[in-house]
Amino acid sequence: MKRRHFLGTLAFLPFVGRAQEGPPEADPVEKMTAPSTPTIALNHLGFRPRVGRKTLVVRATGSTRPKSFTLRDVVDVKFRLTRPLAEGRSDFGPCLTADFTDVNRPALYQITVGKEHSIQFAVHEDVWRRTIPKAVGYYRYQRCGVEVPGVHPACHLDDARRRDTGEHVDVVGGWHDAGDLRKWMEVTMLNGVALLNLYRNNPDPRPADPTREQLLEEVRYGNRYFLKMQDADGKIWADAAGGVNGDNSDNHWTDNVVGTSDDRYINPTKRSGTAAVFATLQGLVGQCYAETDPDYAKRCLEAGIRAWRAFPEPPASTDDLAWWTLAACELYRATHDKEFQEHGYLLGRALTKRQNTSFIADQRQVRGFWMNGDQPYMDIVNSALPPLALLELHATFPDAADRSKWLDAVRLHLDEYVLPISQRNAYRIIPLGMFIGSPTPETYRPLAGNLTYRYFHPVRKQFWWQGANCHLGSNALVLARAYKLTEKREYVDLAYRQLEWIMGANPFAACMMTGEGMRNPYPHSRFIGLIPGGIMNGIAGNMQDEPVLDMHYTLDWRTCEYWSPHVAFYIWANSVLESIA
Ligand SMILES: [Zn+2]
Repeated sequence: MKRRHFLGTLAFLPFVGRAQEGPPEADPVEKMTAPSTPTIALNHLGFRPRVGRKTLVVRATGSTRPKSFTLRDVVDVKFRLTRPLAEGRSDFGPCLTADFTDVNRPALYQITVGKEHSIQFAVHEDVWRRTIPKAVGYYRYQRCGVEVPGVHPACHLDDARRRDTGEHVDVVGGWHDAGDLRKWMEVTMLNGVALLNLYRNNPDPRPADPTREQLLEEVRYGNRYFLKMQDADGKIWADAAGGVNGDNSDNHWTDNVVGTSDDRYINPTKRSGTAAVFATLQGLVGQCYAETDPDYAKRCLEAGIRAWRAFPEPPASTDDLAWWTLAACELYRATHDKEFQEHGYLLGRALTKRQNTSFIADQRQVRGFWMNGDQPYMDIVNSALPPLALLELHATFPDAADRSKWLDAVRLHLDEYVLPISQRNAYRIIPLGMFIGSPTPETYRPLAGNLTYRYFHPVRKQFWWQGANCHLGSNALVLARAYKLTEKREYVDLAYRQLEWIMGANPFAACMMTGEGMRNPYPHSRFIGLIPGGIMNGIAGNMQDEPVLDMHYTLDWRTCEYWSPHVAFYIWANSVLESIA
């Protein structure tokens, strides 16, 4: 397609975006709760034979309650079983549940409840693994600064000019972050971190897996841009084309000519957390490319160490603290320099101090979640970063005196918070956050005492709220890694339940990865359309914390926009889960 024609096809598309949404009262998506059918909520991919549980959830939306379900092999029709459905407890309305974990015979199956059929699903060892090449391939579609054949011509060759001085700096490259064309640093660097963790966790790929070379090549593509975003002082700029005043004005194609009026802007803000993600990524690059391209590995590692040195002061927020801990681990692994070890220990100590080990808010039901100041920690992208950072310390420093404390902290978090809180809904998803009282005028689900929770972002706090599949993916990652150290099978089971919600085991029976499952909402991806392997923001909540999802093609970004962190954590979590037999 010629570039002019390509641009012409896009000209009619509406130009709405995050910063230009109307007030929340006018938001139609808040009313998009689950319809009465379908009622079968089952993971569309299927199940591994002996890893994870096989759970069926049926929403009880009608006046009669089905008593049983039938499972049959769609090929060998003689294989068929009927079992009772049990009344299950769920925060998302009445529902029935059943378990068929014992069905380990590899085949293609279908479940029937009353007159309703489920999707056909597989019991097979590779039901998750075969989705990984698709998820990895998502990033090729998102490449910026180069032609992606069949997707878009070379774009944004004129990126970008500084917001403060107007000076042009070459920051061509990287990945578009989402269903838009912007290039936020922290979240797109997370893609590189996830891909290199897949590289590390899958040292002997099978023929159908992404190859070692493909992973290195994709990360190198993104990293070309990340390296350009490092300022002379070692710190890292926040974004290119993120928009000038929190608006969406840079979210457009350009003429690729430097110096014309459509050039986009560099945001020269230099946050500690951005440098921490950068240092983590370059520490990984320093390790993963050491054999194949030692000069590149060395150059990137040096850039990471410059970013590390540019922030000598202790991190202020819990998520920054967690990321600097990860950075210390990766830089130590790349250099074996004691500086990173010593700081890693200090950061680990600071991180464990921020865990709520006593019962707060007049209740004795849950503890072990993290705090940010005097409030429970909540961050959709970095949701599980504090326990993940402690697990990384545990893996990096086998002789550390605090090693058992790090693991104990993660166990407390999982056993006294994550496992019990997820039992409050039949799907077993982990709420996005705990709260003290009701900070905004909307429903906060009471737990006990003054402690409340919401599965989904508050919608009355700010205009910005959205689905958080990355929160589920990152928790799946922590659960999978904790299993490897503890062999507690419940962790693996719960990890898969988080991913199953993304893949269709949810009240909408909708699969949120393009190219998998059925009933996929149409993505908010208004520049290039469908991207195979793309995962959308996912189910969000309304004021009552009921699930909402745009199944009505209204281009709602809150639930249906693609976003880097969902794909990144999906890949990273599966890279660990696949090593579990
Ligand atoms: Zn671009």
